[in-house]
Amino acid sequence: MQAAVWPAEMVTPKHAILSDHARQFDELRFAYPVVSRRSKGLSIGVNVNPDKVCNFHCLYCQVDRRVPPRDRTVDFELMVEEVEFLLGLSQSGQIWQHPRFKGTPLELRRVNDIAFSGDGEPTTYERLGEAIVEVGKLRESQGLTELKLIVITNGSRLGEPEVIRALEGLQAGPYEIWAKLDAGTQAWFEKVDGSGLPLRQIVRNIIAAGQKLDLTIQSLFPTLGGQGPSDEEIGAYIGRLHEMLKAGAKLKLIQVYTTARRPADDSVGVLPDERLDEIVARVRREVPVAVEGFYGRNWE
Ligand code: SF4
Repeated sequence: MQAAVWPAEMVTPKHAILSDHARQFDELRFAYPVVSRRSKGLSIGVNVNPDKVCNFHCLYCQVDRRVPPRDRTVDFELMVEEVEFLLGLSQSGQIWQHPRFKGTPLELRRVNDIAFSGDGEPTTYERLGEAIVEVGKLRESQGLTELKLIVITNGSRLGEPEVIRALEGLQAGPYEIWAKLDAGTQAWFEKVDGSGLPLRQIVRNIIAAGQKLDLTIQSLFPTLGGQGPSDEEIGAYIGRLHEMLKAGAKLKLIQVYTTARRPADDSVGVLPDERLDEIVARVRREVPVAVEGFYGRNWE
């Protein structure tokens, strides 16, 4: 794959760069570059669920399933080739000449990670383990020993031995696993994540994976019809975190955030900064794990 040369006509402003999480980058089908506020740099996303099928139906999901998918299956070799291509562009600095990234501030012009995410649940991709190994080899061959591999998961399959085995491949280098926990009660979980699974099963899954692997808990608290999670809900959520820690799950970080991008569902809103601050402060007080908060952004 050849590095492209881009015309200099349009420079994307900084705020648009940070909100541009489009899954496509020019002609690429499975890999996409994103400048992200969380990674404080460039993240190379790998979409291993191009069919847009997910076993959760989160109200805040940004995947627009009204638009039919371009691909229904992953072309494994092409996916790896695309990641290699983007790594090459980033390493050479050419990526910062692309119209979309030309306005990226200097401090964000660094490659932070390669993230397996997708338009669905990455752990449902049967070749995830192989993909982790292959991408890990690219990291090694390019001497990028500090580059993190990240898997973002809703936790629904984290308890399954073959998924844990696949994720253990991450331990060949720096890695993070971001596991979703958006609720403390079954009722809020069902409302926000649209899953019929018992929340206690998700907690058990996170514990099973967390006993072997370091985890980051990612919690998104939106407003639904103008109402955010109650204090009782946050109390129950903290109870779930305690349950995980007590069972020996290695929780390295808790990320508390709210919606920052336009979801497909109109009833979902942004939690005000003050409420987010309250939740972050309470989790910090009551849970012995580092906590980071991320404010939302109104999209209108
Ligand atoms: S788990 Fe992720 S992809 Fe699936 S519906 Fe929720 S936000 Fe969307």
